[in-house]
Amino acid sequence: MNLLEILAQIPDPEIPVINIVELGIVREARMTGEDEAEIIITPTYSACPAMYNIEEDIIKLFSGMGITAHVVTRISPVWTTDWITDEAREKLREYGIAPPQKGAGQDHLDVPKECPRCRSENTRMISRFGSTLCKASYQCNDCLEPFDYFKCH
Ligand SMILES: [Zn+2]
Repeated sequence: MNLLEILAQIPDPEIPVINIVELGIVREARMTGEDEAEIIITPTYSACPAMYNIEEDIIKLFSGMGITAHVVTRISPVWTTDWITDEAREKLREYGIAPPQKGAGQDHLDVPKECPRCRSENTRMISRFGSTLCKASYQCNDCLEPFDYFKCH
């Protein structure tokens, strides 16, 4: 049984096009008994209330298969947006969200963001906080598309 494949059925609570495995929050998943599994997750932002549902979603998913899942939260090393897979970054772009820049760290908001629609870097920040605390709002100066940027962390 591929536990990661099962966990990949759980979408990110905020960005339904990517799942929690692609997001990089599932650190380890293993069977610890015939009908017991241990899932180690590292939550993304503590500021994101949606993250609290993930543990519940995992337990529910496995209990539907007759498996008791023990979800362990590991906060060190802390999750970083660098753990988001390249495939998921592409999905984010298609969804209209500029993916976080790899290794950009904390000062990333001042770096020009690429418009997910026309790929122009001629964009400007409208608000530090977009639809959620994890995102910032930008607008493209070329195609005028407003878009969210997934903040680095
Ligand atoms: Zn654009």
